[in-house]
Amino acid sequence: MSHTIAFIGLGAMGWHMASHLPQLGHEVWVWNRTGSKADQHAETFQTQSVKIEKAVQADFIFSCLPTSADVEQLIAAHPPKSGSIWIDCTSGVPQSAQNLMQSLKKLGVAYLDAPVSGQTIGAEKGTLTVMVGGDVDAFEKVKPIIAAFSGLIEYVGESGSGFAVKAINNTLMATHLWALAEGLTVLKSKGVNLSAALNCINHSSGKSSMSENIMAQRVLNRSFDKTFALDLLQKDIGIAIDLIQEQSLQLPSMQLIQNQFTRIQKEQASTLDFSAAVQSLEQINQIELR
Ligand code: NDP
Repeated sequence: MSHTIAFIGLGAMGWHMASHLPQLGHEVWVWNRTGSKADQHAETFQTQSVKIEKAVQADFIFSCLPTSADVEQLIAAHPPKSGSIWIDCTSGVPQSAQNLMQSLKKLGVAYLDAPVSGQTIGAEKGTLTVMVGGDVDAFEKVKPIIAAFSGLIEYVGESGSGFAVKAINNTLMATHLWALAEGLTVLKSKGVNLSAALNCINHSSGKSSMSENIMAQRVLNRSFDKTFALDLLQKDIGIAIDLIQEQSLQLPSMQLIQNQFTRIQKEQASTLDFSAAVQSLEQINQIELR
């Protein structure tokens, strides 16, 4: 059966994610706030650039915007058609997911929170991890479509659960990056070769995605190539901290990371890549990680 699929938000992630959808054989409509990007997408990947009024008439509507507030505003201005399913791939706020799920239900629309992980490279290769919260029947319907850009699709629970998992994942990512930078600072102060040290760590129990990828590819070579903005990571840590406070939990390490990244937010341009957060530690200690 043929369906229409819309993708809203062709940013660093959405551009690539939407590029995999035409392979499913359905009509794929794309919309972006800066319309020229949607036109370019249509020229590059057999999608159709449409107006937002048409995009929200699709059977399946994907969104990948910076924040839940952006998605809420868009939906309020352009409600989707009855019978459709809205799949929100934004890294958003769990409470917002619940609110949207309930308000869209009244319109006969199912809303799933389906944030993604795997960076722009994973989006380009179509190997993203997708963590989905919301109605199980809607999830089963969209799973074959999500599969076009993912390597792992996991249903994690009721509405908002996907956003919660994503916020915790990214807080762990920030923790790993920061802890690794601290460890390498000690080693540099002792005159150890950091590339060799990193190689040892990557073959030992202290490794992480930050040690295996980001530290060598962006920090030690001083490129700080931007794929994921620092302010988006700061947003995700904030979502995790709000969850912790809602549940009245005492989690000192996460609070510490939040404090560090709040301080960094005041010092550094939020448009930098998240890996540039280590520059704050470099300045404090006057030790450059290279
Ligand atoms: P980008 O900043 O690259 O892209 C944001 C997109 O949203 C652009 O298409 C932008 O349009 C559009 N947009 C921004 N504000 C609005 C608005 N108010 N109304 C409509 N459209 C808007 O972000 P990313 O692609 O990096 O991130 C998107 C989401 O995915 C975020 O929630 C992020 O946390 C998450 N994410 C990002 C990853 C990454 O590695 N980059 C990895 C995993 C998740 P325009 O072109 O006009 O600016």
